[in-house]
Amino acid sequence: MGIAQRYARIREEIDEACRACGRDPREVLLLPVSKTVGVPEVREAIAAGALDFGENRPDCIVEKAEALPQARWHFIGNVQSRRIRDIVPHAHLIHSLFEGRHLRKVDAVAAELGKVQDVLLEVNVSGEASKSGLAPEDVAEALRACGELSHVRVRGLMTMAPQGDTAVAREVFEGLRALRDEAQRAVEPTVDNCQLNELSMGMSEDWREAVPCGATIVRIGRAVFDDAFEESAQ
Ligand SMILES: *Cc1c(COP(=O)(O)O)cnc(C)c1O
Repeated sequence: MGIAQRYARIREEIDEACRACGRDPREVLLLPVSKTVGVPEVREAIAAGALDFGENRPDCIVEKAEALPQARWHFIGNVQSRRIRDIVPHAHLIHSLFEGRHLRKVDAVAAELGKVQDVLLEVNVSGEASKSGLAPEDVAEALRACGELSHVRVRGLMTMAPQGDTAVAREVFEGLRALRDEAQRAVEPTVDNCQLNELSMGMSEDWREAVPCGATIVRIGRAVFDDAFEESAQ
């Protein structure tokens, strides 16, 4: 099976998973993560109907966005202050922000470019030391601080679950959903640039857990781009 067929098959599986839990399939974006492949492979996915792609390195988002400006580029990787100037001009949505100083720099660069940058706040729901993101108890305060940034719009939350145990992944996804619901009630009405519709959660091995928990963006790399993934997963 090639990239186009895998993309189409996962899209169908997501649609089915949505129907099985009473959701509208149009609520869930399949975001192919193209970090391990080049422009030709991205073109194959575009031919199969993909429009949005995720990248985790600044140099790669710049290169691919310049080669394929018709696509929408999402930055999902570790943010470093000195690379924000490279990321913002190309980013449709930045999923992985959580430090105040980075958010303020994104705001400043977006202001210079005359754009309002859509962002998600990354949350370390599981509390694993290896994961980055806000502690759950700091989410409300971080959202309020974003209210000062006139060139940033917070669209929701993002998380990564620990690998290897789907039951744990499900708890993490339910945790992000609960945090979002709470913030929608307690913070959203008081912060103008905060509209928490998006939940970016679920990857190749755990998106099936994320969809019933309310994911609106599933970030899928290997299951779309790696021919060996199917076999290794079975
Ligand atoms: C690589 C990556 C993914 C995709 O992972 P797969 O397991 O290949 O689907 C999703 N999110 C982030 C932040 C990533 O870095």
